[in-house]
Amino acid sequence: MSDPLQARGVDFHCHLDLFPDFEAAIARAERAQVYTLSVTTTPKAWKRNLELTKDTRFVRAALGLHPQLAAERADELPLWEALLDQTRYVGEVGLDAGPKYYRSLDRQKLIFGAILRRCAGTGGKILSVHSIRSVPIVLDMIAQYLPPGRGKVVLHWFTGTKAEAARAATMGCYFSVNAAMARSERGRAIVSSIPPHRILTETDGPFTQSAGRPAEPADALQTVESIASVRHLPIKDATNLVLDNLRDLLTV
Ligand code: MN
Repeated sequence: MSDPLQARGVDFHCHLDLFPDFEAAIARAERAQVYTLSVTTTPKAWKRNLELTKDTRFVRAALGLHPQLAAERADELPLWEALLDQTRYVGEVGLDAGPKYYRSLDRQKLIFGAILRRCAGTGGKILSVHSIRSVPIVLDMIAQYLPPGRGKVVLHWFTGTKAEAARAATMGCYFSVNAAMARSERGRAIVSSIPPHRILTETDGPFTQSAGRPAEPADALQTVESIASVRHLPIKDATNLVLDNLRDLLTV
């Protein structure tokens, strides 16, 4: 594996496989030298993600089962479990208690619980976790099933309260911040309140926009500038902070 510090930036949550041209999206992330976690939404998408990222310098693939798909894809959990040994990275996983997915929350919890327990059992995994309207339950489940030292959690697009962010930080969680968070007042309050050594960047492309088109890894560099502004840091220091945090996250 290449030294992540040779990267220019970090996009720790991007759906590269949902871009119209997956291979071109990977090539652009490589050219931009942005360390990118290519998250997946179903284990059926894993094989191609692994094939296309096994020799990349900066792009890594994560094995996921998205909470918004959990209800209809519960039968893919055994496949997810069977593939877990092939990667260190897990995501997108978590819970979504927003109005559209609230009905499947019980099934989501069964799946997320199984995923956390399996990750704790194998050890050494790094998870990108979705927690829409469910931060307290997500944190309770992490505390219960994934004890410190058995895995690391990055909370993706965190939309909880400052108190919930503080609890997550105490539990050792990282936060991947995107441009949409940096644009909202609430998001900026989170960015200013979380411990600096837990901040990462992400795009969640193609689900966020940059300059009127789907955001992609190179756009994560913009978010570093927003973090610099919110935290009153020189851009260079914010860049180094995010890269140092990535190195710490990746260090066992
Ligand atoms: Mn996502």
